[in-house]
This record gives sequence, C-alpha cells and structure tokens, in this order.
Amino acid sequence: MKKSLAEKLCCPIDKNDLEMTIISQNDEGEVIEALLSCSECKRYYPVIYGVPIMTPDEYRDKKIEASTLKRWEKLIGEPVSKILER
Ligand SMILES: [Zn+2]
Repeated sequence: MKKSLAEKLCCPIDKNDLEMTIISQNDEGEVIEALLSCSECKRYYPVIYGVPIMTPDEYRDKKIEASTLKRWEKLIGEPVSKILER
C-alpha cells in the first residue's frame, strides 16, 4: 500500500484521522506493515502484507491479531496487552 494512500485512511467508525506507526516498508516505499491508531476512539487497525485490516469490531479476531502485534511490540513502543484492550 502506498504511503500517501495510507495517510488518507480514516477511522471507519468515527471518520477521524489515523496515526500511523510504520513497521516495515519495501524498496518502493510502500507500507507493508504498520499500526494505524484512531486519535478519537483509540481503536487500532493493523496493516498486514500491505492491507489495512479495518473490519468491524464483531468480525475481528483479536487472537490472530495479537500474534502479529506481539512481533511489533518493540517498534510500537506500547505494550500489546494495552493495545488489545482498546
Ligand atoms: Zn475511531
């Protein structure tokens, strides 16, 4: 996903801007892995394999997301357990 596109994404719940923490990018500068956080409702949306996971709450599987977030923990600079509570 292009960085410029990632920066245009907003929270699907409240349409607020998302803060992006980039975990990895490819040589073309595309975002491969990132964590998007809503400044308003504090929901988080991971970007995995270049795809933002922005499915509604009831369809999300936090157990699956947890293993990915755990891998990113050092780069995010926030305990994963805190993020999963959001
Ligand atoms: Zn939000």
